[in-house]
Amino acid sequence: MDYPGNLFVVAAPSGAGKSSLVKALLELDSLVQPSVSHTTRPPRGQEKHGREYFFVSTQEFDAMVLASGFLEWANVHGHRYGTSKRAIEERIATGADVILEIDYQGALQVKRIFANAVLVFILPPSWEELRSRLERRGEDSAEVIEIRLRNAQEELAQAKEFDFVIINELFERALFDLKAIVHAQRLKYSAQHRARADTFKALNIL
Ligand code: 5GP
Repeated sequence: MDYPGNLFVVAAPSGAGKSSLVKALLELDSLVQPSVSHTTRPPRGQEKHGREYFFVSTQEFDAMVLASGFLEWANVHGHRYGTSKRAIEERIATGADVILEIDYQGALQVKRIFANAVLVFILPPSWEELRSRLERRGEDSAEVIEIRLRNAQEELAQAKEFDFVIINELFERALFDLKAIVHAQRLKYSAQHRARADTFKALNIL
């Protein structure tokens, strides 16, 4: 399937800094829109239905799976998460760029459907740094941190399937890298041809 908008998919083990990077990109680049996933996990802290996630019951989630409503979905840390197919298609069909912040299983499913999707994997600079970021975050118990680190081993092994890798050592550098990926994608021949159709026409380039 070929749509005018670009689809960016960012995955990383928890603690690698994916959410902060995507948030900073969204603040800087109003042409990129976030996607709001559905999840069966309960809301945390100040999270609001429709803003961070659509919080749904297992039954509602199952119904969407049955109706083929998800572009991708996966079980992550014991809960289910999915990306609404319609919400994404509607936006990229009108030329908007959409960014998905999802786990690696979902990212690989998206690539099978949208071969043009740009997959970005965020790596921590080291195991020690990943562990200390998870500890500093203070969101998880020691036991959960161990589970996240064990899961991270499996997740990191998938980085080779991705188009781009960012090593998040210095936040500003990693953000620069993410912006560069978005920018380079927009400069691809097909993307420029769509965005600047009049220029191409005036130059007699078909
Ligand atoms: P959290 O519960 O901490 O917000 O997210 C847990 C993990 O689920 C993160 O790695 C997050 O990127 C991933 N995730 C969030 N939404 C989706 C989704 O729609 N699909 C998939 N496959 N993973 C998701």
